[in-house]
Amino acid sequence: MMKPELLAPAGDMEKLETALDYGADAVYVGGDQFGLRAMAGNFSLESLGRAQELVRERGKKIYLTLNAYLRPTEMPALHRYLEELRPLDLDAYILSDPGVLAVVRELDPGRELHLSTQANTTTAEAARFWQQAGVERVNLARELTLAEIQQIRSETTVGLEVFVHGAMCVAYSGRCLLSTALTGRSANAGACAQPCRWNYALMEETRPGQYFPIEEDDRGSYVFNSRDLCLLEYLPALVGAGVNSLKIEGRMKTLYYVAAVTRVYRAALDAYVADPAGYVMDPAWLEELDKVSHRPYDRGFLFGTEDALVHAADSRYQRTHDFVGIVRRVDDNSRLLVECRNRFFPGEELELIGPAMRQAHFVAGKLAAEGGGELDVAQPNALVLLQGPAEARKGDLLRRQKVSG
Ligand code: SF4
Repeated sequence: MMKPELLAPAGDMEKLETALDYGADAVYVGGDQFGLRAMAGNFSLESLGRAQELVRERGKKIYLTLNAYLRPTEMPALHRYLEELRPLDLDAYILSDPGVLAVVRELDPGRELHLSTQANTTTAEAARFWQQAGVERVNLARELTLAEIQQIRSETTVGLEVFVHGAMCVAYSGRCLLSTALTGRSANAGACAQPCRWNYALMEETRPGQYFPIEEDDRGSYVFNSRDLCLLEYLPALVGAGVNSLKIEGRMKTLYYVAAVTRVYRAALDAYVADPAGYVMDPAWLEELDKVSHRPYDRGFLFGTEDALVHAADSRYQRTHDFVGIVRRVDDNSRLLVECRNRFFPGEELELIGPAMRQAHFVAGKLAAEGGGELDVAQPNALVLLQGPAEARKGDLLRRQKVSG
């Protein structure tokens, strides 16, 4: 059985390290040009160089997104950017625009190319077309069923990648002008304002300002709002289908999200490949995924469009836990130095999570400032000392059960 790669998002250097620590085989990152996700803390040329070195040290892979569709006036800048990137030892470029592909092949012919989901590949014929054009891996459209993925696998030799987790667009794999139309912020330039998640009302044109609610529930209507994808339960089927890479969406997501989701998929994938016949999905893994911020989960189109429950009537993000801090240092007595991200108090029950599903519950005892002095509360961005559990390691994350909402 071929073990697929687990591919995680890395919105910045810290998230990249986190993704690697928590089990990613490869990460995808955005440069500061042409990579979508304009606000994801993208990598400069210099930081791409450091990222590439870090990934090499760990024996992992790094892919750079260049998946915007360009306009004629942007082509000279693309040429310049590709020349600047050429010395870097990045494992592949992720692109979708055939024009970008042509320029990369001309200027940097040895570079491995992966096709973005933005190219909406839905057939073996399309996959072979891209393969003949020089693409080594195709990220299949999220709209495909498992049977269609299997069919494409059996009819092609190109590498196949599928999204297993994260946000979905109501539009076809993100080819959408809604944000451009309503806000002037282009999804294709990575600046989507996500108007598909907004609450809409009805207005009769001769009565401006009088809004008639369209009520799906007592909070209004979210007609364009999609659920989040979660295919954890179907990993065996995807591995069996011969998929080469399982991709987690979310370069805009937090470090905590990247850690918590990546480690669950790592655990499930390792467990299945180690013992396919005896594999049983651990329900605790799904509970783990519920602890991070997400919209209601669904399996998307994996079993057909009739089956798809992609629309979420409730647009609110939900989670059962709040992230409260990162363990920056642990001494020999398990005393932690924590960089706080949310407030917490002495006496609160906290949960520590680390790579390989390591976790422990403990009650926060006395809190102290790094320089000494007892604290009544740990405030966001403060460095706080407290006693941790014996399981604690540098780089672990702390969270607590969500109090309300
Ligand atoms: S508006 Fe919604 S569907 Fe359109 S690109 Fe943005 S997130 Fe995707």
